[in-house]
Amino acid sequence: MDIENMVTGKTKVIGIIGNPIGHSISPQLHNTISRQLGMNIIYVPFKVEESDLESAVRGLKSLNVLGFNVTIPYKESIISYLDEVTDEAALMGSVNTVKNIGGKLYGFNTDTRGFVRSFTKEAKTTFKDKTVAIIGAGGTARALAIKIALEGSKKIYIINRTLHKAEEVAGRINNKIESIAKAIGLDSIESTPALCESDIIINTTPLGMYPDTEKTPLDKDFRFSKNQIVFDVIYNPRKTLFLARAEEYGCTIVNGYGMLISQGIQAYEIWTDTKIPTILSEQIQDLLLKYI
Ligand code: NAP
Repeated sequence: MDIENMVTGKTKVIGIIGNPIGHSISPQLHNTISRQLGMNIIYVPFKVEESDLESAVRGLKSLNVLGFNVTIPYKESIISYLDEVTDEAALMGSVNTVKNIGGKLYGFNTDTRGFVRSFTKEAKTTFKDKTVAIIGAGGTARALAIKIALEGSKKIYIINRTLHKAEEVAGRINNKIESIAKAIGLDSIESTPALCESDIIINTTPLGMYPDTEKTPLDKDFRFSKNQIVFDVIYNPRKTLFLARAEEYGCTIVNGYGMLISQGIQAYEIWTDTKIPTILSEQIQDLLLKYI
């Protein structure tokens, strides 16, 4: 449909705030969902400077948008401008989806829900009673680690170049959920049994992402075990060097593309109080591949 026929006086607006924002495929994702569902909703990107975050949020509320996504670098700082956040998002200290209900703003984290939905579907298992190694201790690692702990994992290793950041994430899990997390410096990982012991190994660093596709978070000679499940949050390229190595050892591998699509679908479901059928989610996943 042409834009002049699509946007009418009744069109509702959803947006995304972040900086930078130009690389985001969320507009294509959400506008594809609206088109497929026949919803009169348009999704637009808003690049917001840090000093303008509060006024941007107030503006979005005044303009009565249905809701908005929040991306780097505002997933943490947005929380202080919201009326309520889910317990899970508060624990993670990270919100990526905001819903406007009658002028009140409610915060959710669908990154982690999308991660669990996509991981369990593609790896055909859950985190219950598993030992999990997470490489990285940034915003994504922290949110995923907390979600994995809440999903009932047995032990979580947080492995990071900067040890104190890994300690902060492990400490948060041990203090607020259960004492199951241990921090390890990336440079000393080879001397610990953490990776060999792990059922699931997850990369949350940008190492290996386009255009630096020759990079990998573990030594190129690292020996995976064939029964390990290896997940990479990166989706471009779809098979990072890290995943390619794991595949050579016979591991089950999963990339971050399903997580990306699933977090968006769940945000859309929150904004519109609808349930998107699985068949449509799969179609959207196929349609969006051309934007990556
Ligand atoms: P972040 O907060 O900046 O954290 C980056 C992490 O990577 C830190 O732990 C950092 O270690 C580590 N790192 C960076 N460069 C490194 C290097 N050269 N050597 C060793 N470690 C390095 O970033 P984030 O927000 O968590 O995002 C991380 C990745 O997740 C990005 O690639 C992003 O695109 C991806 N992501 C994917 C999805 C999805 O839907 N698939 C969703 C969210 C994010 P230090 O602490 O030592 O600096």
